[in-house]
Amino acid sequence: MASNLTDRLSRLVKTMRGQARITEDNVQDMLREVRMALLEADVALPVVRDFIARVKERALGQEVVGSLSPGQAFVGIVHRELAATMGAGVADINLATQPPAVILMAGLQGAGKTTTTAKLAKHLIERRKKKVLTVSADVYRPAAIDQLKVVTRQAGAEWFPSSASDQPLAIAQAALDHARRHYHDVLIVDTAGRLAIDEKLMAEIRDLHAALKPVETLFVVDAMQGQDAVNTAKAFREALPLTGIVLTKLDGDARGGAALSVKTIAGAPIKFAGVSEKIDGLEVFDAERHAGRVLG
Ligand code: GDP
Repeated sequence: MASNLTDRLSRLVKTMRGQARITEDNVQDMLREVRMALLEADVALPVVRDFIARVKERALGQEVVGSLSPGQAFVGIVHRELAATMGAGVADINLATQPPAVILMAGLQGAGKTTTTAKLAKHLIERRKKKVLTVSADVYRPAAIDQLKVVTRQAGAEWFPSSASDQPLAIAQAALDHARRHYHDVLIVDTAGRLAIDEKLMAEIRDLHAALKPVETLFVVDAMQGQDAVNTAKAFREALPLTGIVLTKLDGDARGGAALSVKTIAGAPIKFAGVSEKIDGLEVFDAERHAGRVLG
């Protein structure tokens, strides 16, 4: 197990006693340690490079104040930059639209879309006092429709029936119509999973987006995906105007470097973190806390 970044840096700092500034000379070794820590946390290489360049710019020439050593000051800079990159403040679901507000769920198969749909329904019922309807537009895996029915019940939301013999667009439109007529505040649309990026399915979700005009298009991504998360995020960002990210399976072993990669590549705020398989295992994403985890 790798030692944490603060420990590693404090070892370097011993060689820097008496230096009151972070300089070109003493910063290189520290940047190398940060780079290693981020790569171990599975942050994608191009994202690491950009991040290191920004930290270097911030750090150079910084006066080290009070009792802080340059090493401690440097750790502070890295931590702040990491938290700022992953998102500042709390980004909750945007419902500022004429109801029903539509939320479109996008992501690879197995990322946690169906589970997150139900978790989000529960969150919106309990925290925002909304009347929520869910629907599955996944006509390729009949079990997906049943799975959504089961978890929607657990969430205490309503579920709109769909069938594997229907067209995804027709399902979504029927659900939207039902939501309008029954005064639902929110309609969450779960979509077909992809095992890998697939042009036909991408076209399908683009059509769903055009027809539904969702107020939120959430990209659901597995934190354990590490490096691969970048390619997935890129493909979804090119296909859809993403408004938020849900990072799932953060209860696993992953250091969660995917958060940094995905946020940078997808260009949307990380709104929620999935922290268990259970229906209440969804947390509003906390960038400050996550920065600590990524750094180890
Ligand atoms: P989908 O194919 O994208 O709809 O993915 P599912 O919602 O079916 O989830 C795939 C698997 O991941 C299921 O076994 C879920 O229970 C599990 N899962 C989803 N989110 C989380 C999470 O935050 N933590 C853990 N541990 N498991 C999760």
